[in-house]
Amino acid sequence: MSSVLDLARADLRGLEPYRHAAWEPTLERLHANELPWRIHGDNSRAGLNRYPEPQPRALVERLAELYGVQPPSVLVGRGSDEAIDLLVRGFCRAEHDGVMVFPPTFAMYEMAARIQGAEVIGVPLDPAAGFAPDAAQALERWRSGVKIVFVCSPNNPTGNLVERATIERLCTALAGKALIVVDEAYNEFARAPSVIDWLGRFPHLVVLRTLSKAFGLAGARCGTLVGDPALVDLLRRMIPPYALPAPTIEAALHALEPPQRSTAAARIELIIRERARLAAELERAAQVRKVWPSAANFLLVECAAPQRVLEAGIAARLLVRDVRRQPGLANALRMTVGTPEQNDRLIAAVLSA
Ligand code: PMP
Repeated sequence: MSSVLDLARADLRGLEPYRHAAWEPTLERLHANELPWRIHGDNSRAGLNRYPEPQPRALVERLAELYGVQPPSVLVGRGSDEAIDLLVRGFCRAEHDGVMVFPPTFAMYEMAARIQGAEVIGVPLDPAAGFAPDAAQALERWRSGVKIVFVCSPNNPTGNLVERATIERLCTALAGKALIVVDEAYNEFARAPSVIDWLGRFPHLVVLRTLSKAFGLAGARCGTLVGDPALVDLLRRMIPPYALPAPTIEAALHALEPPQRSTAAARIELIIRERARLAAELERAAQVRKVWPSAANFLLVECAAPQRVLEAGIAARLLVRDVRRQPGLANALRMTVGTPEQNDRLIAAVLSA
């Protein structure tokens, strides 16, 4: 048995998958209790009257190609959120095991763990260190039974990229002890290499990617987990059989065709340029104390009177995210980089606040 499965819940390792209706597109389907007719206006390729293909082969292949791995290393699900949930349920026994997070960070790691009844160990990020995770402190706090360490890079909501040396150190020290899950939801905006190239070196490394950000498909819900094939096989047995809706599969395949890929690449460049412009302009505002450097498509902005900035935004019909309740961010707001016109309006609103 591969060592990565030794970390999984023992009671799930032999889980028999649900036997979904066989996928035989050349035969007519009288085996899945579907209706034989489409509803009026259903222009989808497959027909919404039909259950979708589980782990659709064409999409898995395109995602594998996109992320530079082989298809057996890919699990596709309803956003990275579903992968986070599956990992926690597959590896943490309620009231025994736990996860480690570096707050302030993406809230779903903690949510998934709490829902599963797993302990959450938080190793706070230090603003004085630019919110860089402290690997030494993490290793000191790790205890047996902490099965997953979530590293978000670039981190939401602080925007900083985590140094590869930090991830490497965690992977090396926790081999055979915990999964290191690196959430690269914003990687495309960072112009930085993914840690996917370390998957061969570290079977307990898992990387999360998504089409929700740079590919513009947040509403379709399509995220990818890239990891050891044995781990992917376990999660494929756990995920609901028809997890990915047919319209999502079609939208994702469309987004991954060359013309949409080149549009996405141009838009990423525009967001990166706008991010620099927005940061520079916001720095000039009396209300702004600090704009943190960002490798993502948002900025973390510390304000003198955040409530006034929020209200000025709303007066300009713009919502920014109030992150003041997160640890260490008492005066901070998170602002997504928008279109140049939206950014102009945001700048004017913050200057006037
Ligand atoms: N990871 C991070 C760091 C995020 O910020 C988000 C969304 N806000 C997600 C994952 C979830 O993304 P998805 O839409 O793929 O579920």
